[in-house]
Amino acid sequence: MTAGVTAAHPMTTGMKPISAFKRITLKIGSALLVDPATGLKSAWLAAMAADIAMLRRAGADVLVVSSGAIALGRTVLELGRGPLRLEQSQAAAAAGQILLARAWDEALSAHALKTGQVLLTLGDTEERRRYLNARATIGTLLKLGAVPIINENDTVATSEIRYGDNDRLAARVATMMGGDLLILLSDIDGLYAAPPASDPDARHIPFVNAITPEIEAMAGGAASIYSRGGMRTKIDAGKIATLAGTAMLIANGKADGPVSAVMNGARATFFAPAEKPERAYKTWIAGHLEPQGRLTLDEGAVAALLSGKSLLPAGVRKVEGRFERGDTVAILDSSGREIARGLAAYDSGDAETIAGHRTQDIPKLIGYAARSAMVHRDDLVVSLAKPDIPA
Ligand code: GLU
Repeated sequence: MTAGVTAAHPMTTGMKPISAFKRITLKIGSALLVDPATGLKSAWLAAMAADIAMLRRAGADVLVVSSGAIALGRTVLELGRGPLRLEQSQAAAAAGQILLARAWDEALSAHALKTGQVLLTLGDTEERRRYLNARATIGTLLKLGAVPIINENDTVATSEIRYGDNDRLAARVATMMGGDLLILLSDIDGLYAAPPASDPDARHIPFVNAITPEIEAMAGGAASIYSRGGMRTKIDAGKIATLAGTAMLIANGKADGPVSAVMNGARATFFAPAEKPERAYKTWIAGHLEPQGRLTLDEGAVAALLSGKSLLPAGVRKVEGRFERGDTVAILDSSGREIARGLAAYDSGDAETIAGHRTQDIPKLIGYAARSAMVHRDDLVVSLAKPDIPA
């Protein structure tokens, strides 16, 4: 058997059913939503909305990464079907995104679901301050019961600093939000042992437990003409997702209600996650960043932190270093020993002002009400084993 592959269908062999996942990101390709001749495929969208409502009833948070702005916009602006110049596709995105967001809102409101539009650029997911901000906004939408409708901000993204494909954007969003499942809906029902365009008899691969070089080759190796777009970006998305602990499913979205179709046994490829999402995010906090500042705590705060609580300003005795909101700070006990690292919810100036004060006094002290914690427990890794930081 090929490395990284098993034969049995994941949905019928003890693999968690889709309804058991808690935070599901759905990536929807343009071709599913938009017919180049007639525009938006309303019946398909209505069935998709019913699938989303079904997932929500099963208890999952649902995030939608929807393509289709450019495809819709070029129809509306009558740009024809030929290749577009950059400024034309950006204009198409501007015109199409309005319609796209409205279409999603209308389709989901039929199921009493609220929506919120989020347009992201590459920097919003890669640069940690903006990452933290995007994460907080999307998290709040979810908490408030809304379905975030996400797309790349194509109207401002320039070629050097854009994703360009929503497969990888969706993978970043899914991992950023600690999602446990990413579903890529496209015009193909999963991965084949060779690109079907070159080998129509190629074997379908139902389950991938690790993205090995062999799996990558199936998507079309770097030297192949199939390497750009299509399955290649889906495998790249799979690497981003699975390494951060998010499972991924590639399914054919063409039929109405594609998620229920997979739940009823339609063919798909399931990529198993490598580890738990939270660990991946916390590994990122703990391992990859140099602390910009240091917070020294009193004993009560140390005890609270060790028992899994957030760090409140009241327990902070000393703030050192210059840092911005979202920077990494080392958290020390009163003897100067590092006990944790986390992402600061306030910059160093505001942190100094509110240190030692109660949460309810924050607005009075700094003029605005922001986060109640100085470092939220979701953004915190307790690491007693870390060596002391020299003074
Ligand atoms: N962001 C693009 C759009 O909405 C789509 C990118 C993609 O299809 O991957 O038109």
